[in-house]
Amino acid sequence: MIDRYSRQTLFPGIGEEGQKKLGNSYVVIIGCGALGTIIATSLVRAGTGKVRIIDRDFIEYHNLQRQVLFNEEDIKAELPKAIAAERHLKKVNSSVEIEGIVADVNYTNIERLVAGTDLILDGLDNLETRCLINDVSLKHKIPWVYGGAISSYGMTMNIIPHETPCFRCLQASPTSAGVALTCDTAGVISPAPFVIGSLQTVEAMKILVGAEEINRGLIMIDVWRGEFNRFEIRRRVDCLTCQGRYEFLEGKFGVRTTSLCGQNAVQVLNTKMGELSLKELAARLEPVTEVSYNEFMLRFTVDNHEMIVFSDGRAILRNTTDESLARGLYAKYIGA
Ligand SMILES: [Zn+2]
Repeated sequence: MIDRYSRQTLFPGIGEEGQKKLGNSYVVIIGCGALGTIIATSLVRAGTGKVRIIDRDFIEYHNLQRQVLFNEEDIKAELPKAIAAERHLKKVNSSVEIEGIVADVNYTNIERLVAGTDLILDGLDNLETRCLINDVSLKHKIPWVYGGAISSYGMTMNIIPHETPCFRCLQASPTSAGVALTCDTAGVISPAPFVIGSLQTVEAMKILVGAEEINRGLIMIDVWRGEFNRFEIRRRVDCLTCQGRYEFLEGKFGVRTTSLCGQNAVQVLNTKMGELSLKELAARLEPVTEVSYNEFMLRFTVDNHEMIVFSDGRAILRNTTDESLARGLYAKYIGA
């Protein structure tokens, strides 16, 4: 087992001491797309003690171009990303405690999902959830590593609570950035998230072993142009989060229905429902429509829309951006 990490402990920045610290660390990766799969595979291989991976989605063919942990068999088995990641990574390093959780991270559950962790890693594709991570990070003094990649470029920054500027010092009003580009509209080439995910991983390692050299600025790259820049970020004097006001965590912006940006789909949440029996739901729906399901999700078609239901009561309605239609169909077929 010691031999497994020999090439890493030879590196003076880690050493035997650093390896022990990694082995005693608990990290949570929120979002398991291109960034998340790179971070998860690197940190599991590096011998991080406990790794929790949270993602709300299942795998589609257009993910395979850059989401390195997944394969065609996962798609045929209709596995959610978090479950597929957990299964593959357990075969990579059985000494790491790996936990895949299929969930939408929102203000009702984030404090429970990050409790006890030493570090939060951002593998997300939206600003709102990042602001939520930022709130929970500052409130509970858990550092986090921001990362984002799109097209051929990307950026990353460490947020060490009450020490460095926070994410909202950088992005003052994230909710007004309604026309933000997404991978679904602007595209992405795999080296952009690979580089950013790798930078996030090395910052995670440095934070976990307590290295002096952690990055204290915003790193921006463009892999197509071969550009790499670092910017100083100042704390904004009027930053609400730095002043201890956690608007996203308090649920000021709500969550019940969200149009999934760029995907022509709407997500409906039902935080009161609790664990849903997909088997029972299938039995109820089978007389009405064709249903397919496994232990993680159930799929059926209604009025030309595909509805995918997860066991946490969440559903995604495809081929629409109409939130009230989605809520209506949810109430009719799944429950209020
Ligand atoms: Zn701030």
